[in-house]
Amino acid sequence: MNGSALSPSTIAVVGAGLSGAVIGRLLAEAGHSVEVFDTRDHVAGNCHTERDPQTGVMVHVYGPHIFHTDDTEVWAYVNRFQTFMPYKNRVKTTAGGQVYSLPINLHTINQFFGKTLRPDEARAFIEELGDRSITEPKSFEEQALRFLGRDLYEAFFKGYTEKQWGCSPSALPASILKRLPVRFNYDDDYFFHRYQGMPENGYTDMVTRILDHPGIRVHLSTRFERATAREFAHTFYSGPLDGYFDYAHGRLGYRTLDFERFTYQGDYQGCAVMNYGDSAVPYTRITEHKHFSPWEEHDASVCYREFSRACGPDDIPYYPIRLMEDQAQLSLYLKAAHEEKQVTFVGRLGTYRYLDMDVTIREALDTARRFLSSPTG
Ligand code: UDP
Repeated sequence: MNGSALSPSTIAVVGAGLSGAVIGRLLAEAGHSVEVFDTRDHVAGNCHTERDPQTGVMVHVYGPHIFHTDDTEVWAYVNRFQTFMPYKNRVKTTAGGQVYSLPINLHTINQFFGKTLRPDEARAFIEELGDRSITEPKSFEEQALRFLGRDLYEAFFKGYTEKQWGCSPSALPASILKRLPVRFNYDDDYFFHRYQGMPENGYTDMVTRILDHPGIRVHLSTRFERATAREFAHTFYSGPLDGYFDYAHGRLGYRTLDFERFTYQGDYQGCAVMNYGDSAVPYTRITEHKHFSPWEEHDASVCYREFSRACGPDDIPYYPIRLMEDQAQLSLYLKAAHEEKQVTFVGRLGTYRYLDMDVTIREALDTARRFLSSPTG
C-alpha cells in the first residue's frame, strides 16, 4: 500500500476488468476513494486488446470479444467511454469438409440436408428430427438432441463442445447450448441483440477511460493480500472465488485457452471467426483479428488458432465449467462468500459464471448502486 494512509471510506476493488472498472467508477463518482488492484500488467481483464507490433492489427489478446446487448443503459454507458463502430458477428464453421453458416439458420439447414425448405417447412422438419422422448432436457446433449436431432448435433456441436469443455456434452448444463439460437430464416447474425459493435480503439482503451477518475488509483502487477481487506471500508472482489478462500473446498473447474499465433499476407479466411466442428481438428476455432476492425485497412493479417484445455494452478482461468456434478462444491463457496460481509464477490471469476460483457456491466452497475444506497449491506 506504499505506506500511504487510507481514509475510512476507501474501497478496494480487486481486478481491473469490466466489473472492477465499472464499480470503481461509480463509487469514485459518488465521492469514495477507490484503490484498484490487478495482478496483470494491463487493465481490461480478458477483454484486453492491443495492437500487434508486426501487423498493426488490434488483437483480442484473450480471444474474441464482441459487444452485444439489449440493455439500453449499458449501451449508453460503454458509449460514454468509447466510440462503438458498427460490427456484426458472422461466424462460419467448417465441418465434414464443408463450410456452413452459424448460428444454425435456414441456409445451414438447407445446405446440410441438401434441401430447399422454406421457413415453416424447415421448422416442421427439424421438429421431426428432435428426440421427443426427452421432455425436460437437462444436459447440453439432451437439449441438442431434443431440439436439433442427432445429425446436426454431431456435425456442429458434439466435437466442438468436447474440445472446448474437455468432457462429454452429457455432463454439461443445457444453458450452454441455449446461448445459441436456431433460426428459420437467413439471418446469420450470431447475436440477436438490438445493439452490437466494436470499440474503435479497443476494450483496453475503453476500460482505461472508465478508470480515469481522480478518485481512482490503479495498482497493476499487484497482488491483493486478503489480510489487507480489513483496512478498507469494503472490498469488491472479481478474482477467482475459490482462490479467495484458499481453495478450502477444492478447485473449481475452469478451462483455459492457448493461442497459436500466425501471420498471413492478405485475407486468410475471409471472416473474423471460423469454428471447426470436427473432433479430428485439434483447435476449436481460428480468429482473424483484422476482421474485428472493418473500418481499418491492413494488408498483413494476424490470426490465432485457439486450443482449449483444463486450467492448471498457474494458468489463466477463462471459462467456468459448472459441471452438473460440481454444484455441491460451488454451493459451499457461494455460502462462504455470502458470509463474508465486508467483501462483495462480482463478475465472471468472483461468482463463477459464464457471463457476457453486457451482463457483467449491468451487474456491476446494480452492485455499485446497491452498495451506495446501503453501504453496510
Ligand atoms: N458451440 C458448438 N459449436 C460451435 C459453436 C459453439 O458446439 O460451432 C457450443 C460450445 O459448447 C460453446 C457454446 O456452444 O461453448 C457456446 O458458444 P459461444 O459461441 O457462445 O461460445 P464463446 O464464444 O463464448 O466461447
